[in-house]
Amino acid sequence: MSNNLLIVFSGPSGVGKGTLVKELLKEGGYALSVSCTTRGMREGEKDGESYFFISKDEFIKEIEEGGFLEYSNHFGNYYGTPRKFVENQLAEKDVILEIEVDGALQVKKSYPEALLIMILPPDTEELKRRLKGRGTESDEKIESRLLRTDYELSKKDLYNYAVVNGDLAECVQKLKEIIGFEKTRKIKD
Ligand code: 5GP
Repeated sequence: MSNNLLIVFSGPSGVGKGTLVKELLKEGGYALSVSCTTRGMREGEKDGESYFFISKDEFIKEIEEGGFLEYSNHFGNYYGTPRKFVENQLAEKDVILEIEVDGALQVKKSYPEALLIMILPPDTEELKRRLKGRGTESDEKIESRLLRTDYELSKKDLYNYAVVNGDLAECVQKLKEIIGFEKTRKIKD
């Protein structure tokens, strides 16, 4: 039996998930799932790299055809994980998803063996202060992001692991240890 893992990372906005995932990808042996989204492209993003940017109609059609392993509506936009990509890649290597908690918990339902890892800030209050201080956004947007932070953190006990991202190198090392341990465990099971 393959011991390839479906590894799901979640954590509040601003906690550094993207950087951690990039560091893990440098190690090789992982496939990163690129999600579909209906949100607009931000500066610096590329279609097919950051996300597949699709219309709401296309997204809904994909839902109806069962094309998503999971999906959720987050801050008014849809986000979903392409099922085929994950299933095909999982036959070859470990697959990484970086998605929010509702989606992660859906994945756990269809793939109980998925490894769910929540990334935590070293200091939640400091993270919230930084989210508030981003400047350009309306109070309403800031408030909904702060509420979302509390919501994401409240789900941490449903994850297999919660890892604090204080020092980047230390955190990457811890993640590698967890993944290594879980792979060995899967071989034994
Ligand atoms: P952003 O719009 O800032 O790129 O992402 C917003 C949130 O959507 C992040 O928490 C990100 O992890 C999450 N996200 C990205 N792709 C997916 C996906 O395919 N499914 C789900 N459920 N969440 C996603």
